[in-house]
Amino acid sequence: MSNRTRVSILGATGSVGESTLSVIAENAPGAPDFEVVALTANTSVEALAAAAISTKAEIAIIADEKHYAQLKSLLAGTGIEAAAGANAVNEGAARPADVVVAGIVGIAGLPPTLEAVRQGARVALANKESMVCAGQLLRQEAARTGARFLPIDSEHNAIFQVLDRPQRVEKLILTSSGGPFRSASQQEMAAVTPEQAVAHPNFAMGAKISIDSATMMNKGLELIEAAYLFDTPVERIEVLIHPQQIIHSLVAYDDGSVLAQLGLPDMRTPISYALAWPDRMPLPGLERLDLAKIGRLDFLPPDTERFPALSLARAAVAAGGAAPIVLNGANEVAVAAFLQRRIGFLTIAQVAGEVLDEFLNSASANAVPATFDDVYETDRWTRRRTIEKLRLAA
Ligand code: MG
Repeated sequence: MSNRTRVSILGATGSVGESTLSVIAENAPGAPDFEVVALTANTSVEALAAAAISTKAEIAIIADEKHYAQLKSLLAGTGIEAAAGANAVNEGAARPADVVVAGIVGIAGLPPTLEAVRQGARVALANKESMVCAGQLLRQEAARTGARFLPIDSEHNAIFQVLDRPQRVEKLILTSSGGPFRSASQQEMAAVTPEQAVAHPNFAMGAKISIDSATMMNKGLELIEAAYLFDTPVERIEVLIHPQQIIHSLVAYDDGSVLAQLGLPDMRTPISYALAWPDRMPLPGLERLDLAKIGRLDFLPPDTERFPALSLARAAVAAGGAAPIVLNGANEVAVAAFLQRRIGFLTIAQVAGEVLDEFLNSASANAVPATFDDVYETDRWTRRRTIEKLRLAA
């Protein structure tokens, strides 16, 4: 019997994956003894091979099959297995592990996240789109297999850390930096370029989540994620703008107490909490929070006029059923189009709202997805419809 913690990382070369590797590499006295099982990446074959070699992983899996030969040659003689393709990624997620870090962005992360749930692992969840699109189904599956969701999205991780009496909760309060355009006018936002939008004030993140932060769709998706993850009606979840991002979220109880989790904005803290749970693990290399140095913390209500994505998310989760899948799919397509400079910044939330409206007014709006295939079917419909709408607008 080994008492090592077996960890797999889906999306090992992305921002969450890199932070996870850095938490594992820190290896301070008192930290768990980690054993890396599977590492996956989409296309970054060299970074994947380097991570697999430095962590002595069992297997490295590249989703894009055209990099398979290169992966094999980079790993030749190391004893590390190499595999490629979407099925191999799913098999990697199903390989026995104590913790699977779900760090793939978008609904593309749902199939392997589901495999991690099916093997009954602790799922360190960064892939919020999985929970947004299939929250109900994933929770049912987890109840069946004994899998547990440990959120590493910093807001949800904060709530998870201070949620000691779920039955006494009055409100969950998700904090948000407000993104890079917190104080920008509508006219300024209309002219925003992809380069300006990916420059997040506090966190270095991948392109998709950076754009989502700028439109505040990220907070909208987090609102939906929180509703499913913590089984809380959306009316009892609030968003609070907090530019310094020191308080990562709060829980208000029915005795008037409000508990918060604080820390410098660094993904390694929530990731380490999920890896070591139910314990904590030391991160001596991490800069410590010095509140006297920070001096002040500011708070303000969100502006849903300039950031309609928040209201769209509330509408989607209140409608329930497949509506969150539609909002997410339309947003994924629109963000990709914005990054390719095919549409303007404000069009992202606008088209997502139009497709969501169309869906909510259709006969499909009342159907609750009963299977994961239903989820993927709604996602495909949404993508087709969003692409059509964007062509019409072009
Ligand atoms: Mg977050």
